[in-house]
Amino acid sequence: MSTITCGNRARHAGQTGTHGTVAAVRACYLDPDTFTCGWQYEARDRYGVLRDEDGQVVILECQSLAWSIPNGITCESGHEHFFNREYTDDRDEAMALAKVGVEALDLQGRVWV
Ligand SMILES: [Zn+2]
Ligand SMILES: [Zn+2]
Repeated sequence: MSTITCGNRARHAGQTGTHGTVAAVRACYLDPDTFTCGWQYEARDRYGVLRDEDGQVVILECQSLAWSIPNGITCESGHEHFFNREYTDDRDEAMALAKVGVEALDLQGRVWV
């Protein structure tokens, strides 16, 4: 991922910020309403999922700059979340979501119905 220096010091508390994409720089300057990406994912190293001393899977939060797009949000690390799209590994839940007009995807990102 390339890094672009951001000159928007107001947003970065007087420091030079960096962003991963041109779109993120644009959002940093122009979007009044940016926030921190709350995308959660399992921490992994090359051996697999990381666990803490208690055997719990370590969950990390993305925390990249995120901004609104039509019908959803996106972040500079490439996470997209659409308000009319949900992820589920449960077929019944997928059917229920489809009925109310929400596109249901399985955890691999395939559309259920
Ligand atoms: Zn910035
Ligand atoms: Zn993210």
